[in-house]
Amino acid sequence: MHPLCTELQSVVSANVVSVQKAFDSYQNACFTARPPEFFCLELCGEAGELANLEKKLWKGADISMDRVSDEAADVFISLMNYANARGIDLAAAVSDKLSRIVTSK
Ligand SMILES: [Mg+2]
Repeated sequence: MHPLCTELQSVVSANVVSVQKAFDSYQNACFTARPPEFFCLELCGEAGELANLEKKLWKGADISMDRVSDEAADVFISLMNYANARGIDLAAAVSDKLSRIVTSK
């Protein structure tokens, strides 16, 4: 495995757990409980909104990076909420996945 991948796994392991837990605490304290299916659909919807902006950018439309950033944030937040509702340990899952990704150079 590439040494940068090993470093990335360490960073993920050291930080993603606390980020995911903080999202869980915030969600549980401030919003109505939802099942994982809800958050999965929300995640897909937000990814679709982001993809739609990228499509417009690709076609040459004048789209502000603030809008793109906002949708990227929605994707991140909905992924956190989905993983928490589904009981997925993203730090472990990402670290495991990184160890199985074959690099291309
Ligand atoms: Mg959105």
